[in-house]
Amino acid sequence: LKNVKKVYKMGDNEVAALGGVSISIADGEFTAIIGPSGSGKSTLMNILGCLDTPDEGDYFLDGTDMTKVSEKNLSRIRSRKIGFIFQQFNLLQKLTALENVELPMIYQGVPAKERRRRAMESLERVGLGERIHHKPKELSGGQQQRVAIARAFAAKPSIILADEPTGNLDSKSGAEVMTILHQLHESGNTIVLITHDSKVAAEATRRVRIADGLITSDDRNGGAA
Ligand code: ATP
Ligand code: MG
Repeated sequence: LKNVKKVYKMGDNEVAALGGVSISIADGEFTAIIGPSGSGKSTLMNILGCLDTPDEGDYFLDGTDMTKVSEKNLSRIRSRKIGFIFQQFNLLQKLTALENVELPMIYQGVPAKERRRRAMESLERVGLGERIHHKPKELSGGQQQRVAIARAFAAKPSIILADEPTGNLDSKSGAEVMTILHQLHESGNTIVLITHDSKVAAEATRRVRIADGLITSDDRNGGAA
């Protein structure tokens, strides 16, 4: 991102959510974004995830200028490259764990058999091989978040964006979610994790602090950046 600005207009009011953010995230990095409520973290994530576009500034994703890409191509790039994990899990209540995990792969055009195979494999990897036919309300919060993680990586994205993935979980379930994120990082995924929790942030390899829509610090393990 280069000098990215985002303003929300609400009638006569304007909220400057991002006031000029520049950041470069390398392939395979595990970055935590930390900052108080309202500081612009989710806005930043929505732009990184191509769910929203900057008002000003540039966003290059793997060399492509995302501000010049059509809406249709934006959603294609998004479904190919990016997996999302949200605080509220965002699972579809009417679908089973297995069906939830398969859904993004339907949009990607993955054939049915391959979809089923990858969904089962992903659910097993997050320890839910015995729960694949359960619906979200038949699962604990931690289990629902693990379904959401399985859904994110079954589609084989290179980038995983997680907005407060441990925010609604008890500490044990939160630790399990972090273990899975670490494993994804080790297997080569780029991870951007938003958190309020400095203990959770300490587990990333890089920490970016944001306040009032601006980056205030950026530290990598093994010395400041
Ligand atoms: P939290 O930790 O509470 O999730 P955040 O750091 O993710 O906060 P953002 O959601 O990025 O914060 O919001 C940044 C600012 O933009 C806030 O002042 C918020 O009220 C405002 N904002 C966010 N989304 C919208 C919207 N759709 N319309 C208007 N204002 C918005
Ligand atoms: Mg937020």
